[in-house]
Amino acid sequence: MTPTVSPARTLRQLAEIPVSRLHGVGEHKAKALASVGVETVFDLLTTYPYRYIDRSRRADLAELAVGEEAVILATVRAVRARRTRNGRSLVELTVHDGTAGLKVVFFNQAWRARQLGAGTEALFFGKLDTFRGGRQMTNPVVDVVVGGDDVADAEGRRRRTMRIVPVYRASAKAGLSSWEIGSWVEEALRRSGALADPLPEAPRRELDLVPRDLAFHDIHVPATPAAHAPARRRLAFDELFRLQLSLVLRRRALEEDARAIRHAVSAREALARQRDGAAQTLVQRFLARLPFQPTAAQRKAMAAVFAEMAGPLPMHRLLQGDVGSGKTIVAVAGMLAAVQGGHQGALMVPTEVLAEQHFFSVRGLVDGLSVSDPGRLEGERPVAAALLTSRTTGAERARLRAGLESGAIDLVVGTHALLTDDVGFHSLGLVVIDEQHRFGVEQRARLRDKGRASLSSAAHGRTAGADPDLLVMTATPIPRTAAMVLFGDLDMVVLDEMPPGRVPVETVWARTAADEARAWGRVRAEVQEGRRAFVVCPLVEGSERVQARSATEELHRLAGGPLRGLRLGLLHGQMAPAAKEHAMGEFRSGEVQVLIATTVVEVGVDVPEATVMVVEDAGRFGIAQLHQLRGRVGRSNRASWCYLLGAAETEDAAGRLGAMVRTHDGFELAEIDLELRGEGTILGARQKGRSDLSLASLRRDADLLDEARRIAEALVASDPRLSSHGGLADEIRLFLDPEEEAFLFKS
Ligand code: ADP
Ligand code: MG
Repeated sequence: MTPTVSPARTLRQLAEIPVSRLHGVGEHKAKALASVGVETVFDLLTTYPYRYIDRSRRADLAELAVGEEAVILATVRAVRARRTRNGRSLVELTVHDGTAGLKVVFFNQAWRARQLGAGTEALFFGKLDTFRGGRQMTNPVVDVVVGGDDVADAEGRRRRTMRIVPVYRASAKAGLSSWEIGSWVEEALRRSGALADPLPEAPRRELDLVPRDLAFHDIHVPATPAAHAPARRRLAFDELFRLQLSLVLRRRALEEDARAIRHAVSAREALARQRDGAAQTLVQRFLARLPFQPTAAQRKAMAAVFAEMAGPLPMHRLLQGDVGSGKTIVAVAGMLAAVQGGHQGALMVPTEVLAEQHFFSVRGLVDGLSVSDPGRLEGERPVAAALLTSRTTGAERARLRAGLESGAIDLVVGTHALLTDDVGFHSLGLVVIDEQHRFGVEQRARLRDKGRASLSSAAHGRTAGADPDLLVMTATPIPRTAAMVLFGDLDMVVLDEMPPGRVPVETVWARTAADEARAWGRVRAEVQEGRRAFVVCPLVEGSERVQARSATEELHRLAGGPLRGLRLGLLHGQMAPAAKEHAMGEFRSGEVQVLIATTVVEVGVDVPEATVMVVEDAGRFGIAQLHQLRGRVGRSNRASWCYLLGAAETEDAAGRLGAMVRTHDGFELAEIDLELRGEGTILGARQKGRSDLSLASLRRDADLLDEARRIAEALVASDPRLSSHGGLADEIRLFLDPEEEAFLFKS
């Protein structure tokens, strides 16, 4: 790296300079840095301090009060080195700054006697104490003054005092100290020279953002305690902006060359009145036959889905809705909108239990509906729904495959089994993915590709070459800000209203043995009334096998104790699929009154008669999980209870359980979760490749995120390929994997 080159350097250029080019980063240290992910000068400059120590205050000794921290500039008058009684080395200095004297003591730093000989002038940073009546500083930080008062000495050594010292996350394991990192950062800053600022002037001014250069300087080497805040704000904005810019570009790229099926449906069909005599289309007949009125939120969501399905661009929409908000009918309505135009719908869910359950409800919902079939004389045939999981084998599987390929099957509910190569579709018009976070991006894409393949033949006439529409659903509400980061390339619609008549689940944190006894009492009383209960076993470390064994033990314990005499069933992940289905079936029918389960029941299990949920050792579960578990009850208009057993072992656990008792609102719980856990875990667990957010905080920077989105949208609208914003394009490429880069910037 040559010092000061014009023009200004870009981040991309810095990302091409290995850290080993810096002074003092030898092979050994370069390895250590690489082990913590720092390989280039850019990596180093984006390794930010997590706090600062203010050693900038200089004081006269005479004015310094005991207990205060400050820097003093003093001359050494006398030095004495000795050993303490227990053998530690002790160096004692007498220093004076012209206003007063002081004793300075160093333990285990014998070399200080050589460094600080009588007559040496130095800056000492430390806290003023008293010892045996005398004023003293112990183990202060020292800078020897080489030329006058100016301690930025000629050898370019880094000042330790009279400055604000950034503190970096040191890594003892890698053998890296905060001090070393700071020295390299400062050298990198010095030698990088001017940095290019790709953000256009207008937003920079509008948002009052400091220049990039200054930001990098002040976040690492703030001249005053206040200087790092605007620096942080600028760099946090950059992170959010890069991310939003790539999401907006991604959206644009998706739309650009995509062809959509113009589904034969209109937003108005979502408004069909119940028992509307005029109900004509399949969708209208479906809605008219529902045993309940869709909520306003469900109608709004369906209208959005229909409008988009009918439109010229493929749908990419996320449907967020709390447990029990009624996402299933929105999904089924969407699939029927595809079916009424001669296409098919597929619903993919993460587990077999869920697939079976969804199939059960989908079949119930479409039962008695028919669809026009031009291939038939009578012109109509019943809507055909099928279930496809890894358990579908032999003749049944062959039949399903044939039906999906010929179009005789309209709707399919399935697991990953839908993705297997031998499954093909006649004309897949809508892909719905439930609990989308349980699937990887590739899996979502694979189902979409199957749809695309099914539509590729010329036989599809106008729809040939189209992409199927995509609706992803999540019952794990996430905060708005997190959604913008994770799903910024999707349209969103939220079911923010519960079906009427729901009685909130009474949630009790049962901390004591007496509380727990009351919980079991409630289970018995409800079972007596003909209702059912879930008991979720404690989370245990180890494999599914270990978890299953402990669930079995828990079943025996409960059967011999608190739940003696009740009909208990078991459900865990190690059971054979048939056994699982059997267990669910028995619970649904009431054969089994209490289901002892692992978190297998977490998602989507719908048994309206269940009114009690007992979660054992609840402090070990996360908020989202507890919220999902609680969602298994309160699915009817009967009063329901959720008992969270156990004293919380940590403060966070107490926070989670307290929040569960306080609120039922999934979005509010998601915000609390974000607060408690920090976004790292939330974002990290869901999607990789979003590693650019190191300073920005979704909690603190929500406003900045909105601004970043707004500016990104305006910019892409005016310059869809960033052709006149080369610096920005160049920079976001840094954070994209090659495939995504090719996708966003294909020419
Ligand atoms: P989730 O959003 O958790 O998937 P579901 O779609 O499973 O919710 O719906 C939960 C329960 O509420 C189901 O039993 C469903 O039949 C019922 N339901 C859905 N919409 C309504 C409504 N508008 N009015 C009354 N009950 C409804
Ligand atoms: Mg559901």
